[in-house]
Amino acid sequence: MSSRRNFLKTTSVAGLGMALMPSLISAPKTNTWDVIVIGAGLSGLMAARVLHQANAKVLLLEARDRVGGRTYNQEMTGGNIAEAGGQWIAPGQTEIRRLMRELDIKSFPSFMAGRAIGGGSMNKPQELAFARLESQIDELASVVPLEAPWLTPYAAEWDKMKVGKWLKKATDSMAVRLEMTYGIASFLSADVNDLSMLYFLFYVKSAGGIHNLLESAQDLRIRGGAQQISQKMATQLGEVIRLKAPVTSIKIENDEVLVTANEKPLRAKRIIVAMMPKDAHKLGFDAPLPQQRQDLMANWPTASGAKCSLLYPRPFWRSQGYSGDVFLASGPFSMGFDNSPSDASSGIFTCFANKKLLTLSKEDQQKSIIKELKRLWGPEADNVLDYVVMDWAKESYTSGCVSPLGPGFLTAYGPALRTPVERIHWAGTETATVWNGYMEGAIRAGKRAADEVIAKIRQ
Ligand SMILES: Cc1cc2nc3c(=O)[nH]c(=O)nc-3n(C[C@H](O)[C@H](O)[C@H](O)COP(=O)(O)OP(=O)(O)OC[C@H]3O[C@@H](n4cnc5c(N)ncnc54)[C@H](O)[C@@H]3O)c2cc1C
Repeated sequence: MSSRRNFLKTTSVAGLGMALMPSLISAPKTNTWDVIVIGAGLSGLMAARVLHQANAKVLLLEARDRVGGRTYNQEMTGGNIAEAGGQWIAPGQTEIRRLMRELDIKSFPSFMAGRAIGGGSMNKPQELAFARLESQIDELASVVPLEAPWLTPYAAEWDKMKVGKWLKKATDSMAVRLEMTYGIASFLSADVNDLSMLYFLFYVKSAGGIHNLLESAQDLRIRGGAQQISQKMATQLGEVIRLKAPVTSIKIENDEVLVTANEKPLRAKRIIVAMMPKDAHKLGFDAPLPQQRQDLMANWPTASGAKCSLLYPRPFWRSQGYSGDVFLASGPFSMGFDNSPSDASSGIFTCFANKKLLTLSKEDQQKSIIKELKRLWGPEADNVLDYVVMDWAKESYTSGCVSPLGPGFLTAYGPALRTPVERIHWAGTETATVWNGYMEGAIRAGKRAADEVIAKIRQ
């Protein structure tokens, strides 16, 4: 672990910030900061990191008793962890990989060798038709301006159109349509008939193409679990962070912002709100926010999910020739996969629970999943050492996992997504232009918001 002095000396992220250092140093004033960042997920932590490296006086407030937000290493027996939130990264995600190098965190390839169970079974002509469909999607997405998708040519028409309707026009093949429908549901938790085509095209371009979303986004995992990135950033930030400090009101007073957490008034020249717009809506703004911003936060659509993980002495399915990938049309879960540690010193099977499963007791959930796994892989599925579940819908400070925007939303409210309101700046993966919705997007958005604030403070 590096000391703060070493950290400041060796840092490279805030090249911009370092050049600005002297002008950001403020006269010490009790309960007053240059910048208060709200939310210690990846985005807020990155914003605080960049500001801290620029020598700004920064405070990071987090409602929970932990950092990491939508990344969470759930403890299991024997020092094992289940990744309950974000976990996969793609080789082309440059900012998260750069940050991991700075924090000395390694990645490893996701285990994919062997047979999958369920899922698409397209024949050769269908595979070719699917590839053509992917090209069509990428071509349409190529004209979307990532900074302002609402300015896409014919944006209103695209935003009115549902993805399901477009798919019907784009291909005659039911098998190809179904494959794409399941693919989209796997990364946006959305029914294609509820999803805006404009938003979908933005999401595709933001990730660098549909193939990246369907394939490479799951190529790599993070040794020690994704939450470690936040935990290591937090260790380096030290006293900058206050946990168990839920913000309950935000008020603009002359040239300061008054933030209240645990009934304590805290003041800053500027603030960064680093969370999903739906969560930001609960912050208690006592500030004249433009109507478009208020509507954006109040109506922000979210989809939640729940991950269940079973711990085994070893990933026994591998020796039977299975990859661990399981796709079920019906049953206790929709999709499951091998989530074992890189050295396979234990076997972890993780799955996304179906709604009905979550109505059962924890014990009955476990029984129901085991029953299914015994059917697929035989009696060894009984040897469970531990079982954990994380239902994001039950979390007070996370409104959802992903944001499937419906028809009309982006053109109506999109312009308010990133536009600062007086002294309030917005971060969070939902504001990212590249890899929006992903950990990569969260990190990029945090850095962008910090740079925005640094530029303002210098003026
Ligand atoms: C189940 C699941 C699976 C996922 N899989 C992947 C994946 O494989 N790969 C990938 O790249 N991404 C994945 N994601 C998405 C990824 O986790 C997120 O994009 C990313 O973590 C978002 O970071 P953030 O900082 O923008 O927001 P968050 O992590 O949501 O951070 C917001 C923070 O604000 C805090 N907060 C909220 N209200 C208040 C308040 N009133 N006062 C103070 N603090 C408050 C919250 O506690 C939280 O810590 C997944 C997400 C989930 C839930």
